[in-house]
Amino acid sequence: MREIQIGGLVSFTTIDYPGKLAAVLFLVGCPLRCTYCSNPHLITPHDGEYDPEKVFDWLKSRVGKLEGVVFSGGEALMQGDATIEYMQRVRDLGFAIGLHTNGFYPNVLSRALDTVDWVGLDYKATSRRYNELVGNDIAYKLMSESLDILIAANKSFEVRITLDPRYITKSDLIEIINDLHARGVKTVALQKYIPHFEDGQTPTTPSEREQFFNDSELREQITKLIPTVIWRG
Ligand code: SF4
Repeated sequence: MREIQIGGLVSFTTIDYPGKLAAVLFLVGCPLRCTYCSNPHLITPHDGEYDPEKVFDWLKSRVGKLEGVVFSGGEALMQGDATIEYMQRVRDLGFAIGLHTNGFYPNVLSRALDTVDWVGLDYKATSRRYNELVGNDIAYKLMSESLDILIAANKSFEVRITLDPRYITKSDLIEIINDLHARGVKTVALQKYIPHFEDGQTPTTPSEREQFFNDSELREQITKLIPTVIWRG
């Protein structure tokens, strides 16, 4: 049994796994360097602060009280089969398994499909601007492969787009939505950008951050193309 590195835990959430009361485990390590990362302490691989066996024992005590466990990060799939094995153990307790992923590991995602019940996949920007935001020039291609895998598997999933006005314009958003529409994606979550760490970066104003949410024409255009649109503001 390979040990996974867990760097954070939320014991109860109603927003991270749609429709389920869930706990969230934040796994250590991420191959990307998003400028807006809200968990920078998780990016560099290191020994996790949480003992996986103690977390597992705690999850056992939550059986019947929680419905799901979300694996987030960092990038939960960076730890490969160690993550999948731990997910399976948690699933065997009776929990539904959620996964938040940036899509950087399509091969691991393929192997995890039978163990995961629901996926939230980040689609962070247009292909042209992906590298600028995440600091990795193959990230878009890999995310796109992961999306194809989820579509082909008919998995329950949502595509999540964080609307950082420094990296997404309204026309970029429509370009992404058109791509998702063409690929038959059914659920998209549009998330308001929250400035956690803007030190040394171009700051954003509330009206820049809210422009997507306040534009009824834009909202209508998107609603016509995607069956379920969740506005997380
Ligand atoms: S993918 Fe997530 S954890 Fe990784 S750098 Fe980007 S925001 Fe941070």
